[in-house]
Amino acid sequence: MGTYSQQTKEELARKYPAQKCCVKAELAAIVRACGSLHLRANHSYMVTISSESAALIRKTRLLLKKYFQLSGRIIVEDSGRFNRRRYRLQLIGARNVKRVLAELEILADGINSGIPSTLVRTDCCRAAFLRGAFLARGSITDPQKQNYHLEITTENEEFALGLHYLMNLCGFRAGTHQRKEYTVYLKGAETIGRFISFIGAHGAFLAMEEVRVFKEMRNEVNRLVNCETANLEKSVRAGLEQVEVIKALKAWNVLAKLPASLQEIARLRLEHPEASLRELGELANPPLSKSAVNHRMRKLLKIAETFVGREEMNSPG
Ligand SMILES: [Zn+2]
Repeated sequence: MGTYSQQTKEELARKYPAQKCCVKAELAAIVRACGSLHLRANHSYMVTISSESAALIRKTRLLLKKYFQLSGRIIVEDSGRFNRRRYRLQLIGARNVKRVLAELEILADGINSGIPSTLVRTDCCRAAFLRGAFLARGSITDPQKQNYHLEITTENEEFALGLHYLMNLCGFRAGTHQRKEYTVYLKGAETIGRFISFIGAHGAFLAMEEVRVFKEMRNEVNRLVNCETANLEKSVRAGLEQVEVIKALKAWNVLAKLPASLQEIARLRLEHPEASLRELGELANPPLSKSAVNHRMRKLLKIAETFVGREEMNSPG
């Protein structure tokens, strides 16, 4: 299955741009993100694209074939750690290499990592370029996690600045930070959702939306449950206080002198200390509305208050 990040990248690796301009843009991003230029012993150039992702190397080879009619050589190495493998796609031959570098607007004196505007003139090519960069060096956190985060890392400052600019140009508010390498990142479910869908990971976008909707629903349910619990506690506490007051009225011999309607509510409250006002209303004969019960209960409390005042005045000392 793999992580959500791996699944997203596998989906993108299976996506082949229909237009030639986009093939070029995606290739240009991949070569900038994980390509290097070597001068060989016989003074000819070699371009190597290196990655731990077989899917990326496979795709790069197909794109090169489609655009340049060139087939590169693939070398598989054990990278030693965690049984991981590293794949290298090599392009050799001075003429081939020069042609690729010139077409992808990479200078022959090294891998120039800036992003020429000619490569990303239209939305289709911008999406293709960002897809290539994300495929080569990107990752995305699992939507199940609390925070949404997507990033593309690179050692190259110029490439990082270019990606940051391009993302903003396409309407995504990117951030960049630098530690050992540069990280261009996006935050927030809405922005990241739009981004992965922009670069063509529609399946991953839908999976993310599903999780997001579920998370929102769960939060809403929790909020309602908490709210209800709080209300319930409040009403139980109020009920117990009312019981105390009614007991006092009884002790002062006041209760028996009150109208029957108030006596009934007092009796029901004493019998059902934890019932809500609505429930007390249902128990009354004839049944009463919640507001009628509330009205009578307030009257009882008011009477008790006046008696408390009198008791205090009359009490000696
Ligand atoms: Zn295009």
